Amino acid sequence: MQRGEVDPLAPELAQAALLAAPVALLAVDERGSIVLANTRSEELLGYPAGALIGLDVEALVPERFRQGHAELRSGYMGMPSARAMGAGRDLFALRRDGREVQVEIGLNPIQTEAGRVVLVAIVDIDARAEFAARLRRQERHLHQAIESAASAMVMVDAAGRIVLINAQTEAIFGYRRAELIGQPVEVLIPDRYRRGHPKLREDYFARPSVRPMGQGRDLFGMRKDGSEVPIEVALSTIETEDGLNVLATIVDISARLELLGRIERSNVELEQFASVASHDLQEPLRKVVAFGRLLHQDCSEQLSRDGLEWLGFMIDAAERMRTLTQDLLTLSRVQSQSIVAEEVETDGVLQEALENLAMAIKDSGAEVTAEPLPRVRADRGHLVQLFQNLIGNGIKYRGEVAPRIRVSVVDTANDWVLSFADNGIGVDPRFHEQIFGVFKRLHAREAYPGTGIGLAICKRIVDRLGGAIAVESAEGHGATFRVTVPKRYRPEAAMSGVRLVQELRKDPRS
Ligand code: ADP
Repeated sequence: MQRGEVDPLAPELAQAALLAAPVALLAVDERGSIVLANTRSEELLGYPAGALIGLDVEALVPERFRQGHAELRSGYMGMPSARAMGAGRDLFALRRDGREVQVEIGLNPIQTEAGRVVLVAIVDIDARAEFAARLRRQERHLHQAIESAASAMVMVDAAGRIVLINAQTEAIFGYRRAELIGQPVEVLIPDRYRRGHPKLREDYFARPSVRPMGQGRDLFGMRKDGSEVPIEVALSTIETEDGLNVLATIVDISARLELLGRIERSNVELEQFASVASHDLQEPLRKVVAFGRLLHQDCSEQLSRDGLEWLGFMIDAAERMRTLTQDLLTLSRVQSQSIVAEEVETDGVLQEALENLAMAIKDSGAEVTAEPLPRVRADRGHLVQLFQNLIGNGIKYRGEVAPRIRVSVVDTANDWVLSFADNGIGVDPRFHEQIFGVFKRLHAREAYPGTGIGLAICKRIVDRLGGAIAVESAEGHGATFRVTVPKRYRPEAAMSGVRLVQELRKDPRS
C-alpha cells in the first residue's frame, strides 16, 4: 500500500490509534458519560476492559473535588479550544480500587454528528514524580557521602573554580564553605606552586584520568592562615550538567609524616645503639680474656685450686660474651648496612663458606655435597654468612653419625629455592617458627654451644633479598632449611630499616 492511499480520517485507523496510544484517553459526552476509553486508561484507572464505558466521568474524580465538577464540565463544553485542565492545581484521578494517582489532564472538545464530546488525555505524573524524587534522594545521598567523607573533597569546574567542598575541606584548610565556593582552586595552593598550577590543571582537563596528583613530588596545601599542610591528592573527573568537573580527594598526611619521622629517629638510634654497644664491648672483653689467660698461665702458683677454677669460669664467661657481642654486631650490620648488590655465583659462595667451616668439617668428619647452584643478584658477603650459618648448624646439631649435608636447588618460575638438608637431630615442629627469633635456642649450652643468633641473622639476610626461610623437620630425622630467593631483585626489600622510612617520608605513596 502506498502512503498517499491511506485516509488519515478513516474511522478504523483513528480508532486503532486511539486504542493503542501509550497515553490514557477517554471521550466524554455532553451528559458526562464516558463513551470511549483506551487500554492505557483502563490500566491507569484499574478498570477491566470495557468497564469504563457508560460510567459517569465524576466517578473518576476524588470525592473532595467532585462537588462543582459537573458544573465546570458543562461550562467547558461550550468552549471551542483545547486546553490543560486545572492549571496551577494538583490534579488527581480516582482509581477503581479507591487509590488516587496524580495526573495531568488535557481537554480537547470535538464536534461529532451525535453532538459534542470532549477527548480527555490523562498523563500519570506519579511515576514521573517518583522518578524525580528518587533522583533527588540519590543526589542527597551522594552529597551526604561526600560531606561525611574522611578525606577533603574539592570539586573544580573547567575554569578552575571551586564548585563544591565538604566538611573535611573546611577542617584541613580552615576556610568556611562560603569563602571557598566560586574561588579559583589556586587559593588552596602555596604561593610558590601557584603560578604553575593553572597550566597543570588545563593539561589534566585535556587528558583526564583517575590518578594521584604530583607523583614523586611532595605536595602541600595552603591554609587560610597561610600555613602549609603536607597532602596527598587523587584526581578524578565527574560529568555534570555544566560540563566536565574534576574532583580532588585530599588527605592531610602531616600526622603520618610526623610518625614516620619518629620511627626514623628511633630506628637510627636503635641501629646506632646496637652497633656501638656490640662494637665497644669487644675491646674490654678482649682484655678480660687476654689478662685472664695471662693470670692463669703465669700466676697459677699464687692461686689456690679454687681460685684457679674460678678464674677458668671467668675466662669462659668472658669468651662467651665476646662471641655474643660479635654475633650481635653481625646481626646489627646485616640489618643496617647498605647492600652491595651484584651478580653472585652461589657455587663460589658455597666454597667460601666451606673454607670458613674447614675446621668444624674436619673435626666432625662431615660430608657436604651440592648440586650446581644458580647465579643470583645479592650481597655476596650476606650469602656467605647465610650458607655458613646453615651448613654450620647442620654440622653442630649432628646426631650419632657423621654429619651429611646436601645443598640443592629448585627453579620455580619466579624464585630459586635453595635447600640445606642434614641428617642431624632435627627440630620439633613446635619450634619451627621460634628458632628464627633472636636468642631462641632449644638446647643447653653444655650440649650444643651457641648464642641463638645465627638463624635470626639468616632471616634478616633473606628478608633483605625479598625472600623467605623456613624449616622442615621432625625431631630425630634431620632438618631441611629452605631459602626462597626471588629471581627479580627488589631494591625496596633490600633497603635497611632507616632507608625504608626515609623513602616513605619522601613519597608516602610508594
Ligand atoms: P645457635 O645455633 O647459636 O643456638 P641458631 O639461631 O643458629 O642459634 O639456631 C637456633 C636453634 O635452632 C638452635 O639452638 C637449634 O636448637 C635449632 N637449630 C638450628 N639449626 C638446626 C639444625 N640444622 N638441626 C637441628 N636444630 C637446629
